[in-house]
Amino acid sequence: MKKGEDIEFIKEGKRVDGRGFDELRDIKIEVGVLKRADGSCYLELGNNKVIAAVYGPREMHPRHAQDAKMAVVKFRYNMAPFSVDDRKRPGPDRRSVEISKVSREAVEPVIIKEYYPKTAIEVYVEILQSDAGTRTAGINAASVALADAGIPMKDLVSSVAVGKVGGEVVLDLNAVEDNYGEADMPIAMIARRNVITALQMDGRMTKEEIEKGLKLAMNACHQIYELQRTALLKRYDSSEDRAA
Ligand code: ADP
Repeated sequence: MKKGEDIEFIKEGKRVDGRGFDELRDIKIEVGVLKRADGSCYLELGNNKVIAAVYGPREMHPRHAQDAKMAVVKFRYNMAPFSVDDRKRPGPDRRSVEISKVSREAVEPVIIKEYYPKTAIEVYVEILQSDAGTRTAGINAASVALADAGIPMKDLVSSVAVGKVGGEVVLDLNAVEDNYGEADMPIAMIARRNVITALQMDGRMTKEEIEKGLKLAMNACHQIYELQRTALLKRYDSSEDRAA
């Protein structure tokens, strides 16, 4: 099937999954789910299920890759073979290398790397179930896991995709919308300051549509930021967890 052909994306002002144009999928965030990691987060975005683990700051190997002035941030995005409809071939591929790079660039601006010269801060994102928007779900989870690991950060990073389906600008595309819609634009930002740290675009939108999309993304990232913050507070506010 060609992009956008033969699919009724919009029916009576609603999308295929019943959402409005500016509506996020349900988000669930849990902090500190892995014992061996310094920081971790489990996140659901609709049918996406992802886990992020953070290790470090710890000694950087190989040594020649160390930075004498600051920590080096490593980011690995990986899709489990069972996370998609057909089995995905295990191991890195062009897509995961690209997403790892973009995700690293999305979170790096908030990390105060100068505090830990010669070290590595390692971020691992594993996609357990995918339904479009896995890179945005991964960035949201990674940001929370970094905070959970106690990495000094200036702020949290929040991420969401906007796009165009059936001629409408919509928020947080699901798999059908992502695969067959007209455009997809994943965005990461420091929500409290409206600073964009990553932006990609697949497909075509006009200047006006992009502006509309950016507004939708900004509103949504504020909502996501509140959910991230609430999840972190829940983890660290309870005396029971503190004793664990
Ligand atoms: P994102 O997950 O960030 O939206 P893409 O736009 O590349 O990234 O992918 C959209 C969706 O397409 C993914 O969430 C996943 O459901 C599906 N997908 C991606 N890669 C594969 C693959 N190798 N096999 C099957 N499905 C895939």
